[in-house]
Amino acid sequence: MRRIWTLSALAAAAAAGFLLAAQSQTEAPLPYRNPKLAVEARVADLLHRMTLEEKVAMLAGSGWMESQPNARLGIPAIKMADGPMGVRSWQGSTAVTNGASALRVTSTAFPAGLAMAATWDPELVQQQGKVVAQEVKALGRDMILGPTVNIARQPLWGRNFEGYGEDPYLAARLVVGYVKGVQSEGVIATVKHFAANNQEFERHRIDEKIDERTLQEIYLPAFRAAVQEGGVWAVMSAYNKVNGLWCAENPHLLSDVLKKQWGFQGFVISDWGSTYSTAATVNAGMDLEMPGGEPMRTWFAKPATQADGNGAGWLTSEKVLPAITAGQITAAQVDDNVSRMLRVMFKAGLFDTPHPGGGAVDTPAQREVARTAATESIVLLKNAGDLLPLTTAKVHSLAVIGPNASVARTGGGGSSLVRPNYAISPLEGIRDRAGNRVQVSYAPGASIPGEDAGNDSPAAQARLRNEAAAAAAKADAAVVVVGFAPSLESESFDRKELGLPAGQDELIQAVAKANKNTIVVINAGSPVSMGNWIDQVPGILVMWYGGQEGGHAIASVLFGDFTPSGKLPVTFPQKLEDTPAYGHYPGENLHTEYAEGIYVGYRHYDRDNIAPLFPFGYGLSYTKFDYSDLKITPDKVAPGRGVQVSLQVRNSGARAGAEVVQLYLHNLEASVDRPPQELKGFRRVMLTPGQAQTVTFTIDQRAMSFYSVAKKNWVAEPGAFEVLVGASSRDIRLKGNFELAAAAGGRR
Ligand code: BGC
Repeated sequence: MRRIWTLSALAAAAAAGFLLAAQSQTEAPLPYRNPKLAVEARVADLLHRMTLEEKVAMLAGSGWMESQPNARLGIPAIKMADGPMGVRSWQGSTAVTNGASALRVTSTAFPAGLAMAATWDPELVQQQGKVVAQEVKALGRDMILGPTVNIARQPLWGRNFEGYGEDPYLAARLVVGYVKGVQSEGVIATVKHFAANNQEFERHRIDEKIDERTLQEIYLPAFRAAVQEGGVWAVMSAYNKVNGLWCAENPHLLSDVLKKQWGFQGFVISDWGSTYSTAATVNAGMDLEMPGGEPMRTWFAKPATQADGNGAGWLTSEKVLPAITAGQITAAQVDDNVSRMLRVMFKAGLFDTPHPGGGAVDTPAQREVARTAATESIVLLKNAGDLLPLTTAKVHSLAVIGPNASVARTGGGGSSLVRPNYAISPLEGIRDRAGNRVQVSYAPGASIPGEDAGNDSPAAQARLRNEAAAAAAKADAAVVVVGFAPSLESESFDRKELGLPAGQDELIQAVAKANKNTIVVINAGSPVSMGNWIDQVPGILVMWYGGQEGGHAIASVLFGDFTPSGKLPVTFPQKLEDTPAYGHYPGENLHTEYAEGIYVGYRHYDRDNIAPLFPFGYGLSYTKFDYSDLKITPDKVAPGRGVQVSLQVRNSGARAGAEVVQLYLHNLEASVDRPPQELKGFRRVMLTPGQAQTVTFTIDQRAMSFYSVAKKNWVAEPGAFEVLVGASSRDIRLKGNFELAAAAGGRR
């Protein structure tokens, strides 16, 4: 901590020095320095004081995670840090930050994005964003490189854990919360990776063919919501190509859609090492190339960096100035790029109230948000014979087993993995909760491949398995915590198969044979197949990557202190062959066609009548909820107007708990193919036993619309719509209809 503070203090002193330098050059206070002046006036004033060279210098970073400051004018550097699950060291690439001599930065480790999505709780995500931003400031930074909102197109994507799942509406609601939370603290949020970064395999070179309707309906809505509803200040372009062009030089995405269609006023930042040209990149509307300066040069000089397909160093002054002279880039273009950065810096208050750092991180209140999130995110998939919750009256001994039992696997691997001050493993959480009322034994049962070479041989695995089965046989119940580690599920590579890592299926089978009260806890950031053991165990929970409080969270659900309320933000398929992108992923010769179109996630399973292992929106509870009294008004709605839906949910069980009520819409008559159902509303309601609540939704025109390629716009066509309300996409409890009337004089 001390070292960080010192560095931050130095940075603050340097920033103050800039200000003095800028101030001393002039007698009268400069207009752009006046916090009372409107942002646009400040931008215009400052821009007009800058030389072309000074403007161009701002188009590339000055370091690994800092933009270019300007001492003459007192423009500070924007200091960034990775997220989205917390604040991570900004010193360099993952290899550098993981190195022994790395600057040690600790912060609150939140559950992974997919876990946050399983809460279906935008307010909670907003609180998370706020805490993350408080910690960004406390650590002397200005900008968080998150959230990740790329859609879970297929279950093998190495970064599924970072995003908000397979549904664009759910992802949109959550990103708005995150962005608002972050920016309410005067910290810059960065929605990433724009767009369609849905695989790690050849992420720098893959060219994705995606039709416009699919982009607009599936891959872009979360970004659009971040821009139009969240008012996000920064967007990070993705590594991959979309329709033949790298995302950092893609005028359709950056200019036509983001800036013109959506009216984005902030700046676009490249992903680290994702640029391949000078004029095309600047002109497409990519405003800030990262990383920059010496750290970029050192990193890019490494053969491995280039072998991976990274591109860098294209927006340096040495390259941009000649391109301007040659007439390939206009001065007006550069003004636009630079004013976007300045606008955000003024809005975030970086000129007026810099973030010197030195504040508290990981306070009890911040930990509490992480714990609530981890707890709400847990999804109960199976509970045969109501084995759960475990009661200390019935269970006196518990065998806790598995390669992820005694190690807290807080997140997946790569740039999002933060270093917490502490992290509670499931075993620790269970021991803390069990106290001396339940005797807890532990056996690893299997090892994570590659983590401990001595345990990787078949003989060693058999020994571990036998020890675990023996421990399970002696206990009243067994909890087997299986899943991945950052070495197996990570940014930079995709998983190879849907199954759990080697040895884990066999472990579950052996434990289930030894103890009929076996509960499997899945600690992973994406779906896994369960066909080899699902029928042999009565209990299954998904804890995702729960951040630093994951162990406490799972214990509170196992013992019934908390009634599970998480719902799946992704479909769990039975097998890989059932998944939407099967056959099109990972592509051939660096090309992949998104041939499944808009039929991603449950849209695909529903249309093709494929039974998933567990459907989108699914999650059991320890209590019961009854749905009734669906009212839809009016039953014939005029164009441009909304439809009101109300219903009652009642907790008819014996425990307090939350239900996530989901509203899906089906457009029965349309000139284009429309999915059997699409999520258009949801509400998390907390109810005590016997309590009922009326839940209301408004279905607006946007919710009724599809993206018309011909009209280049969203269109709600007159005709019949079916409203489906339920506890999951495959557990619809109430249905009703309404009709969208034709416009006066229009044709039906
Ligand atoms: C990742 C980004 C991250 C950046 C900076 C890239 O490799 O794709 O998500 O923000 O590195 O660490």
